[in-house]
Amino acid sequence: MHPQMELLVTLHDLELMIKEATEDAAQEKAMGFKIDSLEHLTKAQSDVAKQVDKDIFSRYQKLKARYGRPVVPVINGVCCGCYIRMPTAQATKVGKNQSLTACGNCGRFLYWLSE
Ligand SMILES: [Zn+2]
Repeated sequence: MHPQMELLVTLHDLELMIKEATEDAAQEKAMGFKIDSLEHLTKAQSDVAKQVDKDIFSRYQKLKARYGRPVVPVINGVCCGCYIRMPTAQATKVGKNQSLTACGNCGRFLYWLSE
């Protein structure tokens, strides 16, 4: 996988984990649970965000604001964001995970699961 793509996937995972931890923390604050993990996740998130290329990061933020989920897999040649079938040339390109690819229809960042 492209290194920047790996960062974006990690970043999005961390954001989801932070969201979950925040929701848990709200419920469990009285007992003092989960606060440490939230701090750890937030730190990890900002560390990863710093490694993402500036232009890519701003695109990521825009996609996130628009769709909620800016990074999606392509499964069986179909973008899991908008369910458009990828053009054959793109779908069969050798080393397609080695470059940073975006969906031609919805613009989300794509990663390809091996089929
Ligand atoms: Zn799409």
